[in-house]
Amino acid sequence: MRRISSHLLSTPRGLEASRVVSLSDNGLVLDVSEPSHLDREAGVEFFPGVIVPGFFNAHCHLELSHLRGAIAPGGRFAAFIQGMRAARAASTEEDRRAADAFWDAKMWAEGVSVVADICNGNSTFDLKTRSRIRYRNFCELFGLGADPARAFALRDNALGLSLEAEVTPHSTYSLNRDAFAASTQLSIISSPLSIHFLESEQEIDLFHRRGPLWDWYVEQGLAPDFLDYGGPAERLVAQIPADRPVMLVHNCCVTQRDIDIVMGHFKAHVTWVVCPGSNRYISGLQPPVDLLRRNGLRIAVGTDSLASNTALSMVEEMRLLTGVPLVELLGWVAADIIAPGHAPGLVHLTGLDLGTLTLTERTKAQRII
Ligand SMILES: [Zn+2]
Repeated sequence: MRRISSHLLSTPRGLEASRVVSLSDNGLVLDVSEPSHLDREAGVEFFPGVIVPGFFNAHCHLELSHLRGAIAPGGRFAAFIQGMRAARAASTEEDRRAADAFWDAKMWAEGVSVVADICNGNSTFDLKTRSRIRYRNFCELFGLGADPARAFALRDNALGLSLEAEVTPHSTYSLNRDAFAASTQLSIISSPLSIHFLESEQEIDLFHRRGPLWDWYVEQGLAPDFLDYGGPAERLVAQIPADRPVMLVHNCCVTQRDIDIVMGHFKAHVTWVVCPGSNRYISGLQPPVDLLRRNGLRIAVGTDSLASNTALSMVEEMRLLTGVPLVELLGWVAADIIAPGHAPGLVHLTGLDLGTLTLTERTKAQRII
């Protein structure tokens, strides 16, 4: 058994001082107590700073880790998609596996316990069978000519290795009607979908037959068959059953009207995932955090991939979400809670300003358990 304390401990009641958490050898929380004289408690390990539960990285593409630095920042959205295809073709399998393993280990060491990870191939599956991180794999259907059978085969490959996996549509702009329907209706109904949503204005422009995405489809001789839905939110609710949980990723261009359309439809959980580091890298846009908060929505935070970020660091993402109270922010990034019966993992945050409860440039996260 270990007994651990810090200046502040993140519990379901907020950030509490002078608490001691007792854990079994396999990381199960046995007890959270408030001793009357902490300094006289024997055998308590003290970590100066804040202790929080393990992190949930709500959007990642681990398989793209070798693309760190391969695509210049600020190229805007359609340019990014095209740049990614070229850069991906230029790497070797060995490069790719080494990068995936490095960033898997780094995420774990920096406190990430659970990752919602997008997969277009099986290159990360072997690593994930050995990783200490719990990966929820989303086998993605992508492209106007995409074959749903390929994504379902990829999912079955993952399930055969005892990994968690489900099929998901990439976005409302990259799949024709039947493929989108197949990926949302043939997969397991209780499992969430993870959909890139309103990352850029170009997604909206496409439905009006203008802008770089439209131009690119025309140039490729591809014909989107879904434009009569009228817009990304309208298409989303028309094509996904209301009882299906969804994770909507990015949301940079979401308006109140979009939120009303989405929340008016879904009966299952909708999680609004923000990826501020990726948005800064690609477009300079910011997720509409105030709007999401005003609507009382479930918010989570993702790093996105190293094709559009400099690190897979939850602290770096939190640092970019300025103005959000720390207790609320910690709720968005937590994979679990520190409470008896849970095994959340413990993460030590240092370099915080404990007076104002804000992150600083020096803030770091290091896994304890
Ligand atoms: Zn993504």
